[in-house]
Amino acid sequence: MPSTAESYVEKPKTLAALRAGLVSGATKATDLAASYYDRIAAVNPRLNIYLSLTKERALAQAAHIDALAAKGDPLPALAGVPVGIKDVLVMQGAPATAGSKILEGYRPPYDATCVSKLEAAGAVLLGKLNCDEFAMGSSNENSAYGPVRNPVDTDRVPGGSSGGSAAAVASNMAVATLGSDTGGSIRQPASFCGVVGVLPTYGRVSRYGLIAFASSLDRVGPLAANVRDAATLLGVIAGHDPKDATSSPAPVPDYAAESDKPVAGMRIGIPAEYFAEGLDPEVRAAIEKGIAALQAAGCTVKPVSLPHTKYAIPTYYLVATAEASANLARFDGVRYGYRSPQSETLLAMYTHSRDEGFGAEVKRRILLGTYALSAGYYDAYYLKAQQVRRLLAEEFLRAFADVDAIVTPTSPVPPFNLGEKSGDPLAMYLADIYTVTASLAGICGVNVPCGATSTGLPVGMQVLAAHFNEGTAFRVARAVEEATIE
Ligand code: GLN
Repeated sequence: MPSTAESYVEKPKTLAALRAGLVSGATKATDLAASYYDRIAAVNPRLNIYLSLTKERALAQAAHIDALAAKGDPLPALAGVPVGIKDVLVMQGAPATAGSKILEGYRPPYDATCVSKLEAAGAVLLGKLNCDEFAMGSSNENSAYGPVRNPVDTDRVPGGSSGGSAAAVASNMAVATLGSDTGGSIRQPASFCGVVGVLPTYGRVSRYGLIAFASSLDRVGPLAANVRDAATLLGVIAGHDPKDATSSPAPVPDYAAESDKPVAGMRIGIPAEYFAEGLDPEVRAAIEKGIAALQAAGCTVKPVSLPHTKYAIPTYYLVATAEASANLARFDGVRYGYRSPQSETLLAMYTHSRDEGFGAEVKRRILLGTYALSAGYYDAYYLKAQQVRRLLAEEFLRAFADVDAIVTPTSPVPPFNLGEKSGDPLAMYLADIYTVTASLAGICGVNVPCGATSTGLPVGMQVLAAHFNEGTAFRVARAVEEATIE
């Protein structure tokens, strides 16, 4: 069959360029927002990135920014910046589907903390972005509203679960976006679409207003076209929130300034376990060029050992599904969204609403998680997984005693074709091998574009750093971004 693949790649302007335009009066925030809505109208029917638009709110915010600029008032950090929000984060009065039919029609009565913080910093929130149902997936094919297409090659998946968030930046349907990452859902789609994606340390960004998947793993983070802009966004959304007891009171550094610092003298760890069997040779070659670029910039490279990596997939898929089975118990047809018309008795209403409202992957995980937590199996599965999780975290801490950052491929393979893995859940899970480890350990990381395959598919490098060392990860990612990797 002849390929019908097309490319919709377009690089958004940098935050600095947008700001200069607003300050000089050359651009108006309202015109900018309107131009983004025009692009969305033209391209979204093909790529299926936005699930809903928040036009009224966006245009009111843009008008407010224009009024500030007209008065010559100081402009906040993200003044007029068009941003898209993954549809697992709530915005007051706007649909919040989490990619699921079960939340159809639900309109939350409040804003997620990261949403309020973005808006307080002047961002213009364009709308809600497609994702895998309840953020469960690695290809966006689990969305009840249809898959997102990769803007680099429309026959391919954008990655998941934040596929809409990555594809929006890659196709300039937003300057930056928010995603969520539980086991790789920001880093892997960023890798597949050739953009920057940030996994902040657990506790760095409030989860208030994030529809929960696995609460001990869930994180909110930014995606952008370059490292410095992603760092700026993280600075805006990070910080303690009294509404999220797991959010950290640690002060928020100036991440953009951190990302400007040179890398000479930094120690970079390379774990052999991430360059073993199953790694695509073209991905390996691109990452090796990225490592050579870091050496050329004055970093020392040394091996580190992370031997528990081989247990990471089963550990992650036990912890994540166990927590998901508890978190998703609240969707009962009573409190939110979809209710089955077949509701003769209360029990029938619960059963039919959940059966009709949840997709196959979500059901698989609820069953798996419920089983892992059940009496008689708890010690063998859930407890064991928690023990291995601790070992993985300790292993990373030992490694970070010797190195400042660890670099790996983000995904063992380049973006695959739509439908290629969707019938094989295990193959899909196994491809998460390089991202779930940092999720289990609670550490931070960044995906930075690092060359391409011979057919032009993006390759992403994952830069990991110890808890609350996002600045270090940004510095290293910036050095890779600035090197030419071909
Ligand atoms: N792909 C992983 C999963 O399906 C990670 C998802 C995520 O980070 N939300 O669970």
